[in-house]
Amino acid sequence: MYIKNHLIFCCSLIIFLIKILNLLNINYNIWCITIVALFFSIFPDIDHPRSYIGYKFKIISYLLFYFFKHRTITHSLFFLFIIFNIIIYLNFFFILDLNIIIGIYVGYISHILADMITNRGIYFLWPCKYKFRIPFLYLFINRNKEFYFCIFLFIISVILYFYF
Ligand SMILES: [Zn+2]
Repeated sequence: MYIKNHLIFCCSLIIFLIKILNLLNINYNIWCITIVALFFSIFPDIDHPRSYIGYKFKIISYLLFYFFKHRTITHSLFFLFIIFNIIIYLNFFFILDLNIIIGIYVGYISHILADMITNRGIYFLWPCKYKFRIPFLYLFINRNKEFYFCIFLFIISVILYFYF
Protein backbone atom coordinates (compact mmCIF):
# COMPACT_ATOMS: atom_id res chain seq x y z
CA MET A 1 0.00 0.00 0.00
CA TYR A 2 1.23 3.50 -0.80
CA ILE A 3 2.49 5.78 1.97
CA LYS A 4 -0.36 8.31 1.65
CA ASN A 5 -2.92 5.51 1.96
CA HIS A 6 -1.20 4.19 5.08
CA LEU A 7 -1.32 7.67 6.60
CA ILE A 8 -5.02 8.11 5.81
CA PHE A 9 -5.80 4.62 7.16
CA CYS A 10 -3.89 5.43 10.35
CA CYS A 11 -5.81 8.71 10.80
CA SER A 12 -9.07 6.74 10.68
CA LEU A 13 -7.80 4.42 13.38
CA ILE A 14 -6.67 7.37 15.53
CA ILE A 15 -10.18 8.88 15.27
CA PHE A 16 -11.66 5.55 16.46
CA LEU A 17 -9.14 5.44 19.28
CA ILE A 18 -9.89 9.02 20.42
CA LYS A 19 -13.57 8.15 20.55
CA ILE A 20 -12.85 5.13 22.74
CA LEU A 21 -10.44 7.04 25.03
CA ASN A 22 -13.05 9.80 25.42
CA LEU A 23 -15.77 7.28 26.29
CA LEU A 24 -13.47 5.69 28.88
CA ASN A 25 -12.51 9.09 30.30
CA ILE A 26 -8.80 8.42 29.79
CA ASN A 27 -6.43 11.38 29.54
CA TYR A 28 -4.24 11.47 26.47
CA ASN A 29 -2.07 13.75 24.40
CA ILE A 30 -3.55 13.70 20.92
CA TRP A 31 -0.51 15.30 19.24
CA CYS A 32 1.92 12.85 20.77
CA ILE A 33 -0.22 9.84 19.82
CA THR A 34 -0.79 11.16 16.29
CA ILE A 35 2.86 11.95 15.50
CA VAL A 36 4.15 8.63 16.86
CA ALA A 37 1.30 6.64 15.24
CA LEU A 38 1.81 8.23 11.82
CA PHE A 39 5.53 7.45 11.94
CA PHE A 40 4.91 3.83 12.91
CA SER A 41 2.15 3.48 10.32
CA ILE A 42 4.84 3.71 7.63
CA PHE A 43 7.74 2.17 9.57
CA PRO A 44 7.13 -1.55 8.74
CA ASP A 45 7.88 -0.84 5.07
CA ILE A 46 11.50 -0.27 6.05
CA ASP A 47 11.90 -3.79 4.64
CA HIS A 48 11.50 -2.41 1.11
CA PRO A 49 14.31 -0.23 -0.30
CA ARG A 50 11.96 1.62 -2.63
CA SER A 51 9.48 2.61 0.08
CA TYR A 52 9.63 6.11 1.58
CA ILE A 53 11.02 4.91 4.91
CA GLY A 54 13.30 2.35 3.24
CA TYR A 55 14.79 5.13 1.17
CA LYS A 56 15.64 7.05 4.35
CA PHE A 57 17.30 4.05 6.01
CA LYS A 58 18.91 2.49 2.95
CA ILE A 59 21.38 0.09 4.57
CA ILE A 60 18.87 -1.38 7.04
CA SER A 61 16.33 -1.57 4.25
CA TYR A 62 18.60 -3.43 1.82
CA LEU A 63 19.67 -5.86 4.54
CA LEU A 64 16.06 -6.61 5.54
CA PHE A 65 15.02 -7.01 1.93
CA TYR A 66 17.98 -9.22 1.10
CA PHE A 67 17.60 -11.54 4.08
CA PHE A 68 13.84 -11.60 4.65
CA LYS A 69 12.04 -10.01 1.65
CA HIS A 70 9.12 -7.58 1.79
CA ARG A 71 6.11 -7.96 4.14
CA THR A 72 7.71 -10.66 6.25
CA ILE A 73 9.53 -10.00 9.54
CA THR A 74 8.64 -6.31 9.95
CA HIS A 75 4.97 -7.10 9.24
CA SER A 76 4.73 -9.94 11.74
CA LEU A 77 3.51 -10.78 15.21
CA PHE A 78 7.12 -11.63 15.97
CA PHE A 79 8.16 -8.03 15.34
CA LEU A 80 5.32 -6.72 17.52
CA PHE A 81 6.72 -8.96 20.24
CA ILE A 82 10.21 -7.48 19.70
CA ILE A 83 8.79 -3.94 20.00
CA PHE A 84 6.97 -5.00 23.18
CA ASN A 85 10.27 -6.20 24.63
CA ILE A 86 12.13 -3.04 23.60
CA ILE A 87 9.46 -0.96 25.35
CA ILE A 88 9.82 -3.03 28.53
CA TYR A 89 13.62 -2.79 28.32
CA LEU A 90 13.53 1.01 27.87
CA ASN A 91 11.19 1.27 30.85
CA PHE A 92 14.02 0.01 33.06
CA PHE A 93 15.93 3.22 32.34
CA PHE A 94 13.17 5.78 32.04
CA ILE A 95 9.43 5.56 32.15
CA LEU A 96 8.07 5.77 28.62
CA ASP A 97 5.10 8.05 28.14
CA LEU A 98 1.91 6.01 27.72
CA ASN A 99 0.96 8.22 24.75
CA ILE A 100 4.11 7.09 22.94
CA ILE A 101 3.37 3.41 23.62
CA ILE A 102 -0.23 3.82 22.40
CA GLY A 103 1.05 5.67 19.32
CA ILE A 104 3.55 2.93 18.46
CA TYR A 105 0.93 0.19 18.63
CA VAL A 106 -1.83 2.11 16.86
CA GLY A 107 0.55 3.00 14.03
CA TYR A 108 1.93 -0.48 13.72
CA ILE A 109 -1.44 -2.20 13.86
CA SER A 110 -2.85 0.25 11.31
CA HIS A 111 -0.04 -0.66 8.90
CA ILE A 112 -0.60 -4.37 9.33
CA LEU A 113 -4.40 -4.10 8.88
CA ALA A 114 -4.00 -1.86 5.84
CA ASP A 115 -1.62 -4.30 4.14
CA MET A 116 -3.97 -7.19 4.93
CA ILE A 117 -6.68 -5.47 2.90
CA THR A 118 -4.55 -5.61 -0.21
CA ASN A 119 -4.17 -8.48 -2.59
CA ARG A 120 -0.55 -9.17 -1.68
CA GLY A 121 -1.32 -9.68 2.04
CA ILE A 122 1.35 -10.09 4.73
CA TYR A 123 3.19 -12.94 6.42
CA PHE A 124 1.83 -12.08 9.85
CA LEU A 125 2.98 -15.33 11.43
CA TRP A 126 6.42 -15.14 9.80
CA PRO A 127 8.51 -17.37 9.53
CA CYS A 128 5.38 -19.38 8.74
CA LYS A 129 4.70 -18.90 5.00
CA TYR A 130 0.96 -18.36 5.30
CA LYS A 131 -0.24 -15.17 3.65
CA PHE A 132 -2.76 -13.19 5.74
CA ARG A 133 -5.42 -11.21 3.92
CA ILE A 134 -8.83 -9.98 5.03
CA PRO A 135 -11.31 -12.45 3.48
CA PHE A 136 -13.17 -11.26 0.35
CA LEU A 137 -12.11 -7.64 0.78
CA TYR A 138 -8.69 -8.21 -0.76
CA LEU A 139 -10.34 -9.54 -3.91
CA PHE A 140 -11.76 -6.10 -4.65
CA ILE A 141 -9.00 -3.80 -3.43
CA ASN A 142 -6.28 -3.37 -6.01
CA ARG A 143 -3.62 -0.66 -6.13
CA ASN A 144 -5.93 1.85 -7.78
CA LYS A 145 -8.80 1.28 -5.36
CA GLU A 146 -6.68 1.44 -2.18
CA PHE A 147 -6.84 5.21 -2.02
CA TYR A 148 -10.64 5.36 -2.40
CA PHE A 149 -11.09 2.63 0.18
CA CYS A 150 -8.91 4.53 2.70
CA ILE A 151 -10.83 7.77 2.05
CA PHE A 152 -14.09 5.83 2.51
CA LEU A 153 -12.88 4.47 5.87
CA PHE A 154 -11.77 7.93 6.95
CA ILE A 155 -15.20 9.42 6.19
CA ILE A 156 -16.89 6.56 8.07
CA SER A 157 -14.67 7.13 11.12
CA VAL A 158 -15.43 10.88 11.12
CA ILE A 159 -19.18 10.19 10.85
CA LEU A 160 -19.02 7.64 13.67
CA TYR A 161 -17.03 10.08 15.79
CA PHE A 162 -19.58 12.87 15.55
CA TYR A 163 -22.82 10.87 15.54
CA PHE A 164 -22.20 8.21 18.18
ZN1 LIG B 1 3.77 -2.79 4.44
